[in-house]
Amino acid sequence: MKREKGLLIVLSGPSGVGKGTVCAALRRHDTQIEYSVSATTRKPRTGEQEGVNYFFKTTEEFENMIANNELLEWAKYVDNYYGSPRKFVEDTIQAGRDVILEIEVQGALQVKETFPEGVFIFLMPPSLKELRSRIESRGTESKDLIDSRMTVAREEIELMDKYDYVVENDEVELAVERIKSIVTAENCKKERL
Ligand code: 5GP
Repeated sequence: MKREKGLLIVLSGPSGVGKGTVCAALRRHDTQIEYSVSATTRKPRTGEQEGVNYFFKTTEEFENMIANNELLEWAKYVDNYYGSPRKFVEDTIQAGRDVILEIEVQGALQVKETFPEGVFIFLMPPSLKELRSRIESRGTESKDLIDSRMTVAREEIELMDKYDYVVENDEVELAVERIKSIVTAENCKKERL
């Protein structure tokens, strides 16, 4: 049974909750799902590659993408722009393949306005204390930046009830299993046939 359109899956949640790690693990499990690569004005971290982790842009380039309606959603997050290139996402779902967007909460809520048929998953940290220690252990942010990210995280967690599903990321493999079950169930929904 082949559906005409793929699923638009939005995986969101506070920075540091492990969205990237969960997505990478999901990728190893399931090669059927496509992953949207975001554009950002943030500087690359060590090891990050252009076109793999992000499309790295200047502020001017990013603002041109916004002006030309090239982004499905975008947000300013702790002084940098982040956004999902529209064409890749739209082409993928039109071709009948599922696509995941791994994005922060403001962007997820924008997608909900334009694609209410999307599947919205909120990845939840076991606790705020655990979230802070995960960001600290990444060792890429200064204390001030960690404080800003924690302030944003508290606000983001309050928006959890706007999502279809809440998945706790206590253990990566468990979170991946939960997300795979959600995707399977959504693909079996009779309304989507
Ligand atoms: P980081 O700087 O740690 O890579 O990402 C910071 C935050 O931006 C994370 O919560 C990440 O999920 C989010 N993010 C990454 N790409 C996008 C995007 O295209 N749109 C939005 N709205 N957020 C994104």
